[in-house]
Amino acid sequence: MRASTYPLIDAEVAAALVLERTRFLGSERVALVDCAGRVLAEDIVASAPLPAFPSSAVDGYALRAADAGKALRVAGESAAGRPFERAVEPGTAIRILTGGVLPEGADCVVMMEDVELSGDVVKVPGGLQPGQNFHAPGADLRPGERVLPAGVQLGAAELGLAAALGLPELPVGRRPRVALMSTGDELVEVGKAPGRGQIPDSNRWALLAALREAGAEVRLLGIGPDEPDALRRLVVDALGGADVLVTSGGVSVGTHDLIKPLLESIGDVHVGRVKLKPGKPFTFATLPDDKVAFGLPGFPVSSLVTFEVFVRPALRKMQGFAQLQRPTLPVRLGYDARATADRTEYQRVTLRREARELVAASTGSQSSSRLMSLAGAHALVRIPPGDQGIKAGAVVEAMILSLP
Ligand code: AMP
Ligand code: MG
Repeated sequence: MRASTYPLIDAEVAAALVLERTRFLGSERVALVDCAGRVLAEDIVASAPLPAFPSSAVDGYALRAADAGKALRVAGESAAGRPFERAVEPGTAIRILTGGVLPEGADCVVMMEDVELSGDVVKVPGGLQPGQNFHAPGADLRPGERVLPAGVQLGAAELGLAAALGLPELPVGRRPRVALMSTGDELVEVGKAPGRGQIPDSNRWALLAALREAGAEVRLLGIGPDEPDALRRLVVDALGGADVLVTSGGVSVGTHDLIKPLLESIGDVHVGRVKLKPGKPFTFATLPDDKVAFGLPGFPVSSLVTFEVFVRPALRKMQGFAQLQRPTLPVRLGYDARATADRTEYQRVTLRREARELVAASTGSQSSSRLMSLAGAHALVRIPPGDQGIKAGAVVEAMILSLP
């Protein structure tokens, strides 16, 4: 073992440094069919009103409000997609169906349920107001109005809006291409029986899921050996087609920990140790051609917590998300939290609603090898460094993963 020469830096400082060195990857135009989950790269402004024409909100009769209380001759029909092409004369009404164009001359619609029909004469109630029961042009959106701002994620409502405006494709942020590698001679492919001292490569699958969920396109490099030249070849080959390298393992100070020297030999290591628990050996480097590398610690929980703190916000910045961080909420601690003297701790908790607050319960042993502490966790509770710890009942900040 050798002592690490990298300065221990604050987790917040390291996170800011990572974002400073990460750039937006640019945009591409994508057909609506593939836009779900992508990030809008430019504001969308309505170029025409929505609805484009006065559109009936109900099935009924279109007429002049001035004819309230009268018996009117039914002169025709305006169905959705099949407008009545003449004007409505005084003393007449037009049968209209939901989505039908309000004809010229009419200024209101009376619901089917509110009229008496005999033959082609309809008796309409009194007290009608112009404008009732139809959507005026521009009622939902006026031309020039901003519909969606750049930086939002495109979900169901956003895509529906884009389609309603007649846009067949949208400018979206490019997805980061990530090369993902596990390292360690103890690792075997999942499904293969581990020999003595071997374990399945579980980080690959955990990180693959986390990366995809964060919007990345992932290329799996498999298991890198604890041998510098082979490792270097694997990484250099993969970098050609990647924006980002993510590795797990091989960043602590043991003699087999080869990632830091490898990254130093091809780029610049900016973060080599952070005041973070779990995740102290987290490593971040910039590489030639504007690429970046994240050397995540090998312990399964450490790799996923450092992913949340450092990698996820960076991937979001690359895609153009306006919001880089997960939401945080104040929660009441339901247990006595011990603190670490010199490191910010992210403790895994489940949340429950009690009265009007969220109360955090520990997921049990917070060992960085124990994935059970993260499975099903609703949040990461941030415990600042210190030797006092925080007592049950205090309110702390929680990074929300999902709400109960
Ligand atoms: P390292 O950072 O390489 O020293 O690894 C720290 C611990 O994490 C060791 O116990 C490793 O066996 C374990 N570990 C490293 N990589 C993986 C992986 N891909 N899947 C599961 N455990 C791992
Ligand atoms: Mg290792």
